Amino acid sequence: ILKIKNLVKYFGKREILKDISFDVFQGDVICIIGASGSGKSTMLRCINMLEIPTSGEIIHDERNVVEEQDKLTLYRTKVGMVFQQFNLFNNMSVLENCMVGLVKVLKQDKATAKKTSLHFLEKVGMAQYINAKPHQLSGGQKQRVAIARALAIQPQVLLMDEPTSALDTQMVGEVLAVMRELAKDGLTMLIVTHEIAFAREVASRIIYVEDGVIVEDDTPDVIFNHPKDARTKAFLSRVT
Ligand code: ATP
Ligand code: MG
Repeated sequence: ILKIKNLVKYFGKREILKDISFDVFQGDVICIIGASGSGKSTMLRCINMLEIPTSGEIIHDERNVVEEQDKLTLYRTKVGMVFQQFNLFNNMSVLENCMVGLVKVLKQDKATAKKTSLHFLEKVGMAQYINAKPHQLSGGQKQRVAIARALAIQPQVLLMDEPTSALDTQMVGEVLAVMRELAKDGLTMLIVTHEIAFAREVASRIIYVEDGVIVEDDTPDVIFNHPKDARTKAFLSRVT
């Protein structure tokens, strides 16, 4: 679905991403792991074009998204994103948060948008909160709404940047449960996470990033049980 080729990102004189290349296939659940500051968020933000890569290509539907920046709105309906801090609109209800992209971007009529939104809010277990405002919700509930909002657009790929790391521990589980369900449904996802046990269980592939470089890209079995690179081994022994 996506082909990332030789992606490089500089912030000022610092090279944050160094020659990142990998492919995302239909049904992949790729967990991206690595230490703080290694460039994981920058990588996802580049893939969503929230940051413009310094060089390299992102191929989607046979087009290089980096070159065709006039089509970004359409691209982002195909490659959705969920953030650590939810990014809900505080002045809108749960239902309105889900509907707004469908109405404004996909130009759906309100009845259709409402139907789609209700379906996905149901899916994340938030159907009984449709009239609530974000400030009335717990962190886990907010993140589930953010996931429903992203799903309502029906993207081909969902990018998630540490979707559980802003949550109190008792709410992490409910969000991971939703993500596990989406993986089971076959949704293609690219997830930056520190939840190693979750990655091990759910991922079809693990990408280990260190200092802006992909050190290893392999199955969970290889990464966790027989890592090939000493750097991967050292990281895993620190976090597990
Ligand atoms: P974490 O696990 O803490 O979220 P990360 O792997 O997501 O870390 P990034 O947020 O991608 O890391 O940051 C990688 C490096 O890029 C860091 O050194 C950071 O300071 C730098 N960086 C990130 N965003 C910017 C920016 N907008 N301007 C300048 N430097 C930035
Ligand atoms: Mg990050």
